[in-house]
Amino acid sequence: MLLSGKTAVISGAASLRGIGLCTARLFADHGARIAILDLDEGAARNAADTLGGEGHIGLACDVTDKPACEAAVRSVLDAFGRIDVLVNNAGITQPVKFLDIAPENYDAVMDVSLRGTLYLSQAAIPAMRAQRAGSIVCMSSVSAQRGGGIFGGPHYSAAKAGVLGLAKAMAREFGPDNIRVNSVTPGLIQTDITAGRLTDTMRADILKGIPLNRLGDAADVAGVCLFLASDLSSYLTGTAIDVNGGMLIH
Ligand code: NAD
Repeated sequence: MLLSGKTAVISGAASLRGIGLCTARLFADHGARIAILDLDEGAARNAADTLGGEGHIGLACDVTDKPACEAAVRSVLDAFGRIDVLVNNAGITQPVKFLDIAPENYDAVMDVSLRGTLYLSQAAIPAMRAQRAGSIVCMSSVSAQRGGGIFGGPHYSAAKAGVLGLAKAMAREFGPDNIRVNSVTPGLIQTDITAGRLTDTMRADILKGIPLNRLGDAADVAGVCLFLASDLSSYLTGTAIDVNGGMLIH
């Protein structure tokens, strides 16, 4: 049990095949109490009900809405009294080419990953600071490192590169408060984020470039989140851990 007695907030964790819920399950199995945040309150509650152990909660929170992030964190603190771990997992993607990125595409994709990571971290850090302990995990992507070219468009690549920079800056600023901030850079993970738009041809092309010869599963990413959330990674901050089957070796 790596998270006994700890509490964790995970954004975008109601999606049934998603990285967030898989991470929530693993954290709960390791003894943590979980707050699942997602757009729809019913879905967040239902997801929380599927977790092992007791005391988990599901809350509506659009991470692009600063007051909503602050309200969600207040609810978590009312329920749990503390926040040990925050996973900034909410994110959306779109397969749009550079010249076709419309203002609304840019806003949607940048806002969920980048603004959402800013707002939810801003809401949670004061409690972590008061505890003088905390671990924040930010979900970036291999797309940030290789300039997209997998599924998401250039705006997704830019949003996830922004997340890497923001996480490193948070690591620098809040290290003295004993708050660690690290990122995960997954390759192509089989979830519903591609919303059926990943064709067999695209999948076969992508597989050719993966030395481990398979796409990733949510559990592959959840394990790394557990490592970063737990004291196993107590001297890591400002890092980014690749979970890509060797798709990008650098
Ligand atoms: P998913 O679509 O299964 O889950 C994303 C969740 O985020 C959904 O539950 C959705 O409702 C929620 N969400 C969307 N907008 C939100 C908002 N404004 N506020 C709160 N929640 C919101 O996707 P996933 O594949 O599990 O992705 C999780 C994270 O991992 C994302 O940040 C994604 O960019 C990142 N990622 C995914 C892959 C992949 O191949 N699946 C690769 C690299 C990075």
